Amino acid sequence: MERPYDDILENIKRVRETMAQAAIAAGRNPEEVQLLGVTKTVSPDRINAALDAGIAAIGENRVQEFLGKRDALLLNRSDGSKTAVHLIGHLQTNKVSKIVGLVDMIESIDSVHLAKAVSDASQKIGGVTDVLVEVNIGREEAKSGVFAENLDEMLDEIRGFPGIRVRGLMTVPPILETEKEKRAIFSQMYKLFIDIKAKNRDNDGMDTLSMGMSGDYREAILEGATLVRVGSALFGRRYYPPR
Ligand SMILES: *Cc1c(COP(=O)(O)O)cnc(C)c1O
Repeated sequence: MERPYDDILENIKRVRETMAQAAIAAGRNPEEVQLLGVTKTVSPDRINAALDAGIAAIGENRVQEFLGKRDALLLNRSDGSKTAVHLIGHLQTNKVSKIVGLVDMIESIDSVHLAKAVSDASQKIGGVTDVLVEVNIGREEAKSGVFAENLDEMLDEIRGFPGIRVRGLMTVPPILETEKEKRAIFSQMYKLFIDIKAKNRDNDGMDTLSMGMSGDYREAILEGATLVRVGSALFGRRYYPPR
């Protein structure tokens, strides 16, 4: 008989296998690539089942939704480990103080202004927040993120902010059909990542390249992703409540 969370357990196994195969195919160590379970719209009981099955990090898009679910999540494991939580959706400056201190990483820093707000809020609570800079690699109008040609200048400006630690780059690329197209765009991101790492020799914390979702995490790993953000391939189709 099927138990209630069997689908999630099977999905986790399958995604992990695909991830490992992609890493090995690229000559990489599978342990270099972290799986972030994207839990937007997913109910706490299903998230907890995934945590139970060993998902060590989750990603949420919206501050309000995460705060509403947070108390029901079993983020502290009995073995003493703690599930990492990443904010991966667009963050408005006026919500920054609500979320800083409650997440382990903010992946969606897309302006100097937002980086400053996160730094200030972190300092206020005596902490430092790990962040990624989101790159709009496909130059899509509807997407947030900085353009590649503005990345250097932005990094120069935010590097000195004392309340943040810039750990790398994140992107949500355009939806592409072929493996070749997907890999080409991820490869552009990898080059940017390597470039900024080379320019930041003193900043050895630059270790995260977050790219790849349910439809393209394999290609992302082949091209150098260190973190893939996988939602529907783990939890099934998302149903958005009507507004
Ligand atoms: C929803 C979302 C994901 C996961 O998408 P899936 O296609 O369901 O894997 C990853 N990253 C971001 C920024 C998202 O908003």
